[in-house]
Amino acid sequence: PTPGPVTVIGLGPMGRAMAGAFLDRGHAVTVWNRTASRADALVGRGARLAGSVEEALTAAEVIVLSLTDYDAMYAVLGGADPAALRGRVLVNLTSDTPDRAREAAAWAAERGAAQLTGGVLVPPSGIGNAASTTLYSGPRDVFDAHRATLEALTGADHRGEDPALAALLYQLNMVMFWTALSGYWQALAVAGAHGLTAADLRPLAVDALDLRQFVEFYTPRVDAGDHRGDVDRIAMALASTEHVVHTVAGAGADTALPEAVAALFRRAVEAGHGADSATRLVEVLREPAA
Ligand code: NDP
Repeated sequence: PTPGPVTVIGLGPMGRAMAGAFLDRGHAVTVWNRTASRADALVGRGARLAGSVEEALTAAEVIVLSLTDYDAMYAVLGGADPAALRGRVLVNLTSDTPDRAREAAAWAAERGAAQLTGGVLVPPSGIGNAASTTLYSGPRDVFDAHRATLEALTGADHRGEDPALAALLYQLNMVMFWTALSGYWQALAVAGAHGLTAADLRPLAVDALDLRQFVEFYTPRVDAGDHRGDVDRIAMALASTEHVVHTVAGAGADTALPEAVAALFRRAVEAGHGADSATRLVEVLREPAA
């Protein structure tokens, strides 16, 4: 089938990559952005710049939203004639909290539009690559009807009907991503204090950041509530995290991050879990620290 028309609203690095991927696949692409000049290169490649949000909305059934957050979405769509939203599919690839995604789906439904929430798991350079993944949630029939269009952007993985689900999974991804990547920045800062470059650290970093074997080992134990300290003990891990704090301090570097990690393990030991596996931290982390 010939690719149908699509509209992309929001032309940050992500929205520009998305509009470009649709053009590459032969879609008729309409774009709108608060700062219209960001559309220049896309218009040069054949995209049509809408003169208003209404015009952008009525140019296609599929409206891809790529904005900073949901406040930006309300700022853009809230000012438009609501009639322009009727019958549209809002493919909301804007990241925000699960609650905000659920509210936005209801907001769309009140105006006769359907929302597909999306969490894009790659940077703009991964757009247009079928091996990349975007997690979607929302009405399955709407997803199925537009799947081929969405696949111009990335692989499309529908995870369920709940509009909040894709936003939740996206945020869970970011919880892990930012925390692990901060550990990488920390290691580079300490390495640098000792005259080691990022290139020097690369082989060690690649292995250290591949936590697959830990994930595979701990998955069944966490789900079974099995926190037996037969392989690792929190008391041992606390000593290890303290060595990290001392090593970072010894390099004259900022210790805020390793202090936070050591404090977490200390909290678990003080709560009487020193002989348990680090999986116990999942329960410790369920409640705010005192
Ligand atoms: P940007 O923050 O650079 O994109 C911002 C877009 O939102 C611009 O088009 C901007 O318009 C518009 N915008 C912001 N506030 C308003 C407002 N109040 N009214 C109207 N328009 C507004 O983000 P990216 O392009 O990098 O990403 C877009 C979304 O994709 C974000 O939610 C991001 O979290 C998510 N994402 C990004 C990834 C990345 O690597 N970049 C990876 C995965 C997800 P203007 O040009 O006028 O400023």
